Amino acid sequence: MADAEAPGPVRTCVICRRRLPKKELLRHVRRLDAEADAWTLTPDPRQTAAGRGWYCCSRPDCRERMAGYKAFRKTSRGRVHERKSSG
Ligand SMILES: [Zn+2]
Repeated sequence: MADAEAPGPVRTCVICRRRLPKKELLRHVRRLDAEADAWTLTPDPRQTAAGRGWYCCSRPDCRERMAGYKAFRKTSRGRVHERKSSG
């Protein structure tokens, strides 16, 4: 049954853990920063990039903390080799 009140997809802000409509969240995707040899999060305003997304709500506090958000790396398995400082 079609329901006009049906909510759209809901996602959780990774910072404050609030559940919000996906369209109210800013999607981020991971991107390999070759220079730093590390994954970084980059905004995906069109929400079309492939792969897993991390969502951040519009609170200034959350946006600020999202810039320094590192926990996503825990789920970024493989691919990147941790470079050991040897000399
Ligand atoms: Zn938030």
